[in-house]
Amino acid sequence: MSLVFWGVLLGAFALLFFLARKGLPLWARVLAGLVLGGVVGLLFGEAAGQAKPIGDGFINLIRMLIIPLIVTTLTTGMIALGDPKRLGSLGLRTIALYLGTTTVAVFIGILMAMIFNPGEGVDYASVGATDESVVAEINQRNEAAGAAQRTAAQQIVDVIPRNVVRAMGQEDILAVIFFSIVLGLAILAAGDRGKAFGAVMESAADVVITLTQGVMWLAPFGVFALMSWVLGTQGLGVLVNLGKLAIALYIACALHIFIVYGGLVTLLARLNFFKFLRGMLDALTTAYSTASSSATLPVTIGNLTKNIGVGRAVAGSVAPLGATINMDGTSIYLGIVSLFAAQAVGIALTGPDIVAIAVTATAASIGAAGIPSASLFLAIAVLTSFGVTSEQAVLIIALIFPFDRLLDMMRTLTNVAGDATVATTVARWEKELDEDVLKGGEPAREKVPA
Ligand code: ASP
Repeated sequence: MSLVFWGVLLGAFALLFFLARKGLPLWARVLAGLVLGGVVGLLFGEAAGQAKPIGDGFINLIRMLIIPLIVTTLTTGMIALGDPKRLGSLGLRTIALYLGTTTVAVFIGILMAMIFNPGEGVDYASVGATDESVVAEINQRNEAAGAAQRTAAQQIVDVIPRNVVRAMGQEDILAVIFFSIVLGLAILAAGDRGKAFGAVMESAADVVITLTQGVMWLAPFGVFALMSWVLGTQGLGVLVNLGKLAIALYIACALHIFIVYGGLVTLLARLNFFKFLRGMLDALTTAYSTASSSATLPVTIGNLTKNIGVGRAVAGSVAPLGATINMDGTSIYLGIVSLFAAQAVGIALTGPDIVAIAVTATAASIGAAGIPSASLFLAIAVLTSFGVTSEQAVLIIALIFPFDRLLDMMRTLTNVAGDATVATTVARWEKELDEDVLKGGEPAREKVPA
């Protein structure tokens, strides 16, 4: 079985390579990789799990670009923006849109869960007896999350890195954003003496973006491997055990994307939403297959600047911030899981309970890291906010845990679509959107400091 699998994998890779030689656009090849990988995974089952190292290699390749990309695009973006005062309006607009969309997302999640009743008749208590190791792992992760909790003031102070190199090493994105912004501002403030350094950063940004495009050429293969691994090892088991939960989540995310993001892109950014989605497709498929909005970040920035026409200052600041704090798919999910738990445990929710869910789910989605399954463990805190005991919460999460990946993929796709939507809308407001790019033209070169 395993030999046949490798034969099929090589055949598929040859096909994807052939499509590239034939000039099929990248977004179509990534989509082909996604579908083919999924089908191969379903056909081969466990044997397809062997493709994981190829997928991991691809994830490492893009993650390698995160920090260089943020530092170079954000500093040169600051230079292009020219006026430090514009930073304030950019920041305020970004945060307002991020918070607004996330709040709507929680309520869409709650509404869908009220319609689908995914938790009705679910026997969560039996998990403890059958799957002790899962329960033990969740308990452990929950304790670790509790121990790592910092006060709000501490979290704000920690945005200022004490050691920039360490912040970069730890992929502490907010700290790296902070450093890059002040570095860009200092280049501006240094006037003539800063120009040489600004030009170096400009050139470095071009090089890193070129490298990102090189890595993205490999995306169809990486996405194929990831999809065959996930569907091979997890299959569609999620549909058997948590079918209604999965359907409610997928529908809620789709509604959120088409109504909320579609509305923002069409009405506020004034772009064709379907062209926008096509322009972001590499990022969306990468998000779906990696289940990590942080790992997807270089692709998101690349798509925004090269395909949508968002200026570097906006793409380089709004997208990394979004990958860290803006997670609409995650808040939809937390809303649904809360109702799932209430239904399974038999708690009749009151109005104030719903408000508590909305507030804690929004906070948890802001706090969640952009890595696979991040929010699953934060869900325990949300569940205990309205009367589920922590023992019950652990059992409910243990029930979802083995099937979480397919749910995670959809929420991550939504998270990334949200970051891209907000970046594009803010770019329009800040007059940093080059419309010709989406219409098929070449992106205008960023302003080089004169
Ligand atoms: N995996 C998600 C992300 O990276 C976070 C989550 O677990 O909801 O965006």
